Amino acid sequence: MTDNQKHQSDPTINDGLKAPGDIDAIYIPEDAGDYAEALKKIMLKIPAGWGRWISCGKGWYPLIIQLDQKLEDLVPGYEVNQVKEKFGTLRYYFEIPQEDDPYTQQNPTPELEDDHAWAKWQVGQQTWADSEAGKAYFRSREELQKATNELVAQAELESAKTCESCGADGTLIRSGGWLKTLCETCNQKGAR
Ligand SMILES: [Zn+2]
Repeated sequence: MTDNQKHQSDPTINDGLKAPGDIDAIYIPEDAGDYAEALKKIMLKIPAGWGRWISCGKGWYPLIIQLDQKLEDLVPGYEVNQVKEKFGTLRYYFEIPQEDDPYTQQNPTPELEDDHAWAKWQVGQQTWADSEAGKAYFRSREELQKATNELVAQAELESAKTCESCGADGTLIRSGGWLKTLCETCNQKGAR
């Protein structure tokens, strides 16, 4: 069974985006409840063809939704690649779409075969990159990447203290071949 088949698609919430079973259908988890709309917003950030679902328990939905809001504040239009549980904690893979730097936007790259034009373009681009404006541009791009990476790292750390099943305080539990972050109650109930 593929991941795709494992996830139930809810046609009422698909909004006619794609037919259920389609790779681009939005797989709202059955236990999404009040989080359905917010989770849908996250899944819509997954590029077409990647598979739009979230593979973790409902205890982490609030964590994921908060993270998405913080990332969206920093980088409107950022992309989500994958949201899942791995080795008992959350993995949130995302991407900041890279646009051309301002120099390249104003000076389109020349034809590949045109060595002379390329050499000239590269000198121009390097000169711009070394200028105050260029340095500030690359610095802010780096800072944005760092800030977003930190937000994700925080949420992933938080997941190691949050029961994946119910959202209560939890701990990372190792049992046999699996790792899972659970609270006492869910662990005793055998949630996995
Ligand atoms: Zn629990």
